[in-house]
Amino acid sequence: MARYTGPACRLCRREGMKLFLKGDRCYTKKCAIEKGRVTPGQHGQSRKKATEYGVQLREKQKTKRIYGMMEGQFKLTFNRAERQKGVVGENFLSLLERRLDNVVYRLGFANSRSEARQLVRHNHYTLNGHKANIPSLSVRIGDQIAVKNKSKESPKFKEMKEIAAGRTVPAWLEMDAENLVGRIVALPARENIDIPVQEHLIVELYSR
Ligand code: SF4
Repeated sequence: MARYTGPACRLCRREGMKLFLKGDRCYTKKCAIEKGRVTPGQHGQSRKKATEYGVQLREKQKTKRIYGMMEGQFKLTFNRAERQKGVVGENFLSLLERRLDNVVYRLGFANSRSEARQLVRHNHYTLNGHKANIPSLSVRIGDQIAVKNKSKESPKFKEMKEIAAGRTVPAWLEMDAENLVGRIVALPARENIDIPVQEHLIVELYSR
């Protein structure tokens, strides 16, 4: 599937905020936003006041970038949210959170969502004891995600185990750092999703 392969920091600079796309580096002074570099390109962005459409579009782009998705799959997920009962915007964020790559990241079994996606594709995790190498797979309550035994032996996952021990996970997840196993204990509600997004703007954009 097509994917953005340019510099991640450029995306943060375009949105004018930290999107935390590069894992640990995002928490250091090396972060481009921390250094005050906001607008990309030689001349930066126009200072024109954004239109209503422009504001909605930026919110959608920002969310897509946070979850590392392309338009097609993002819109399909939105369509699925629309078919569910409840508030469309909240359903939408909940579905985005339930992607396997995001869950792996939230559990601390990868440094960033992009790393999680790559590690999922490379078969480092199991879902309920079975092979799970599709990043977009949607998890359910009761599902168990584990780092494969063979992968646990690698230096990367050994280090991850130490880091995971001191990590707190969102309320809808449980994590056993010793065994690198996570479990879905609830569906993610809006208050559990700490991303700086106004999802109603995305709903308005797609409803045009
Ligand atoms: Fe964004 Fe800073 Fe992380 Fe780069 S280092 S991806 S600018 S948050």
